[in-house]
Amino acid sequence: MQFENTLTFAQNLDQLDPLNSYRNQFFLPTFFGKNVRYFTGNSLGLQAKSTVKYIQQELDDWAKYGVEAHFHAKNPWFSYHENLTSKIAKIVGGLEKEVVVTHSLTTNLHLLMVSFYQPKGKRTKIICEAKAFPSDQYALESQVKFHGLDLEENLIEIFPREGEHLIREEDILAKIAEVGEELALIMIGGVNYYSGQLFNIEKITKAAHAVGAIAGWDLAHAAGNVQLKLHEWHVDFAAWCSYKYLNSSPGGVSGMFVHEKHANNSDLPRFAGWWGHDKSTRFLMEKGFQPMEGAEGWQLSNAPVVGMAVHLASLDIFDEVGMEKLAAKRDTLTAYLEFIIDTISEKHKEKCTFEIITPRDKKQRGAQLSMLVHGGGKSIFDKLMSKGVVTDWREPNVIRLAPVPLYNSFEDVYYFGKHLEEAIVKN
Ligand SMILES: *Cc1c(COP(=O)(O)O)cnc(C)c1O
Repeated sequence: MQFENTLTFAQNLDQLDPLNSYRNQFFLPTFFGKNVRYFTGNSLGLQAKSTVKYIQQELDDWAKYGVEAHFHAKNPWFSYHENLTSKIAKIVGGLEKEVVVTHSLTTNLHLLMVSFYQPKGKRTKIICEAKAFPSDQYALESQVKFHGLDLEENLIEIFPREGEHLIREEDILAKIAEVGEELALIMIGGVNYYSGQLFNIEKITKAAHAVGAIAGWDLAHAAGNVQLKLHEWHVDFAAWCSYKYLNSSPGGVSGMFVHEKHANNSDLPRFAGWWGHDKSTRFLMEKGFQPMEGAEGWQLSNAPVVGMAVHLASLDIFDEVGMEKLAAKRDTLTAYLEFIIDTISEKHKEKCTFEIITPRDKKQRGAQLSMLVHGGGKSIFDKLMSKGVVTDWREPNVIRLAPVPLYNSFEDVYYFGKHLEEAIVKN
């Protein structure tokens, strides 16, 4: 498609967009006095207007039944999390028994590593990506130290090459092969939060397995953003949060995936809680932990139903739309943003340029673009914000932004460009 940097062109694309009406199903922030142009759905997704109805149902049942709502609520709380399972399974490409919604993301990463990071003999090392999200870095660091191992020696970060911004897949594969039988685990962000780079999860997982290691993935920036086939790709475990592309409220419940091949492995060490115990005997409150089969066996606590209700509201929308349609719109919307950024960068190159560091290949990215601001500084970002265009600034000079196919429009992208250009001219 030949893009144009005009309002008419953008509005025309919106009219042709089959997902256009979904924008009306979300609250668009208004803190600027009027609607903002919101490009930070990769940090906190927007609230679906239906959310309140889902929460209200649970509040009403709580008011009416008290504790008896565990069995008498419209959606009994005892099994509330099961309402989410088939929907989230579709989003990540897992079998139903391979996924569960529970706890928060970093908690889940730890619980999964307790089971799947088992350093033994020579096999003690973890490979992760450099510039992993800080919480992941701390989680990995503390897991290595928990086993009494030397951090320097056992946590191997893969960096972009000198002068580059992305991590080359070949470098990951080479490092996996090199560490070989000393490799216990790879734990990588499926989409890197900083660069927006999407890794080839299937290929890297296969490479890890080829040397006898476990492959775990943090999918915080991937779930609801890119199409995933965790079962088919033989991923061992994964976890993600629900509040970025999955629009399920700040700190909202997380999801985890454990491949079927580990479903009945009772030799796996794990930290246990009553919600992971066989549900047919859970309320007998007897001694002796018997894990549920599959991912549910990693649950510790009873479900935070209000948070789950928020998530269910969002998952019902995803279920209706489907990842395929979302991905199709995402590719066009992000390509349009890329075109606008390139056009403006070229036009004003004497003053300020934008270097997109996210891969140009749409198979290696989701919705997000990250760009280095050369010659403009943070005042470009500040000027955008003052016009109600919300993006994300990372020192020293990165702007990250994600047009989200469920609620961002081509018109949003056009206006981003318009305000970006004004910001340069007035800088
Ligand atoms: C957002 C994000 C987190 C946040 O973790 P919480 O436990 O939900 O606070 C962790 N890791 C990655 C890669 C993220 O993108």
